[in-house]
Amino acid sequence: MNEHVTELAAWAACEAVSNGRVHAEPRPKTRGEFQRDRDRIVHSTAFRRLEYKTQVFVNHEGDLFRTRLTHSIEVAQIARSIARALSLNDDLTEAIALAHDLGHTPFGHAGQDALNECMAAHGGFEHNLQSLRIVDRLEERYGAFDGLNLMFETRAGILKHCAPAKARELGELGNRFLEDRRPSLEAQICNLADEIAYNNHDVDDGLRSGLITLEQLEQISLFARHARQALLEFPKLVGRRLIHETVRRVIDAQVTDLLTETQQRIAANGIKTLADVERAPPLVGFSAAMQAENRELKTFLRTELYRHYQVVRMTNKARRVIRDLFAAFLAEPRLLPPQYQASGEQEGMPRVIADYIAGMTDRYAIKEHRRLFDVGYLEP
Ligand code: MG
Repeated sequence: MNEHVTELAAWAACEAVSNGRVHAEPRPKTRGEFQRDRDRIVHSTAFRRLEYKTQVFVNHEGDLFRTRLTHSIEVAQIARSIARALSLNDDLTEAIALAHDLGHTPFGHAGQDALNECMAAHGGFEHNLQSLRIVDRLEERYGAFDGLNLMFETRAGILKHCAPAKARELGELGNRFLEDRRPSLEAQICNLADEIAYNNHDVDDGLRSGLITLEQLEQISLFARHARQALLEFPKLVGRRLIHETVRRVIDAQVTDLLTETQQRIAANGIKTLADVERAPPLVGFSAAMQAENRELKTFLRTELYRHYQVVRMTNKARRVIRDLFAAFLAEPRLLPPQYQASGEQEGMPRVIADYIAGMTDRYAIKEHRRLFDVGYLEP
């Protein structure tokens, strides 16, 4: 067993009890199977595209804001630390974290909402399902199969939620949604690590952008308490260092709280095996007190940052770009690159158009919009 140097908990996901890959492959010689998954994700085209996809701020708004790529790396860092502290499979955790946002459209949630509206009559669009579609089918890298042929547990971790109708189509992978079973602890960790990462980096990016202020954040208990602690230790601290010393304390407090609470729930539910995890209530979580403080921070970010008029102006424009592109391609599929036209005949044109648009980076979508609609734009 080369997947791990430290001992895994008896309820950790592991190769020995894995459902394996759809297409059988020889075992890797020098890595574990989940390490191989992680490596395949890092080398994928969809992963590189995350560099130019919006998290909250559109890529061209500033060089220092998080993108989907740096967000995914921060999620992986937090998730891996939690998994290792709990003796869980950190290779699997990292693979899931790095892949969790692969299916995001350009322009963040505004892009996904617009594409979902365009696809309303054609089965809808959901970034979570799209991440799975990318690793299962859309990546073109291997001679023997479409997609990345990842391990069952990695794919199951990517599929965070799923409507019953869709779950039935997915066979074994969808069964847990129909049978009300929980995902692995590794997958549960990624969900919470995602939340810890974005709440904290959105505070940092929000302050950097000037759309939210330190004075406002002093009203938010989680931030205020840790800012006070930072100032107790470094009384003269101001500006960026004060923000960073505060944010790192908040991340640490959330991770520590989550570790304690999760260990308690594992003990309280008498977890002994992987099957116990599936039948138990969600085990990875914050204490009630941290959950309340986290909710206060989330509400603040939603009202003051995500709905800030300057963000809304950008997302409104982004929505229009997506809608225009979709309508143009649907009305005239011959505008699509030839390989998309060909797959449109097998898979139905709307789904292939959604794949094409979802795969675009922010700047590619803007450029494509100019190519199609700006009569003075001469590039073909
Ligand atoms: Mg995310």
